[in-house]
Amino acid sequence: MLRPRLIVLLLLFFLFAAPPPLAAAETRILAATFPLWLVARNVVRDVPDLRVDLLIPAGAGCPHNYALSPRDLLRLAGADILILNGGGLDAYIPRMARNDPAAGEKSPRILEAAAALRGHARANPHFFASPSLSALLAERMGAALAEQDPGHAQLYARNAGAYAREMRELARQFAALGNRLGHPSILVQHDVFDYLAADAGLTVAGAIQIHEGQEPSAARLLSLRGQLRGVAAVVLEPQTPDRAGRMLAEEGGVPLVLLDPVAAGPEDAPLEYFSQVMRHNLQALESALGNP
Ligand SMILES: [Zn+2]
Repeated sequence: MLRPRLIVLLLLFFLFAAPPPLAAAETRILAATFPLWLVARNVVRDVPDLRVDLLIPAGAGCPHNYALSPRDLLRLAGADILILNGGGLDAYIPRMARNDPAAGEKSPRILEAAAALRGHARANPHFFASPSLSALLAERMGAALAEQDPGHAQLYARNAGAYAREMRELARQFAALGNRLGHPSILVQHDVFDYLAADAGLTVAGAIQIHEGQEPSAARLLSLRGQLRGVAAVVLEPQTPDRAGRMLAEEGGVPLVLLDPVAAGPEDAPLEYFSQVMRHNLQALESALGNP
């Protein structure tokens, strides 16, 4: 029989000398964009042996023209599950990372948000800026992850349910505000706000930039000036050039509202970042349009 002291020594040896258990079994989820990363982190909350990383840098903004670095490609290759936006927003993520039989067993499993929301989101891929579609996305993501990892199905369902409730409450507040404001019409910087406007019952009269990040031509500015009639506000985003929007608002005597579509944010964004920003958006709309 082993002496107690020897047993303690052996236990200490195994505790400190053995490699960390389950390290190899950790599931790596890679979210392509900042808003998807926020939803995924909420949905996997408290699920053990699983981590969610972000592919496109948090501060990159609406990633229409992002160029993947060699480091990004390595991270893609190491992912078990890849969450894509889809709808053309992140189409440059290479085919080898998609469910391509030629890529072999190492290719990550793909969850595409646009496909998960089919029937609810139209061709515009900016559904992430809408609380009501974020709610649905959290539920669909939770169901898809539960299918992959049935052992934690209840946890995914609990998390997705809680996040969806929070998002639907936000959507309800946007709808109530839109009602109070009499469903005003807005001119936006790029077409990122279509679904948020739908939640709030606002009409999008048009977008200033046809290609995101590109200031409009002189001819387009002229036609936009014509569209300002009946517009209650010009909506700008914190992360994109806004010279044309500011000029149009000033010339037309139309209020400017800065709304954040949460396409980007800080690297250390807390789990409730989306809600925090959306509450600021509610306040920004209210203070610009609430007291005519
Ligand atoms: Zn965009």
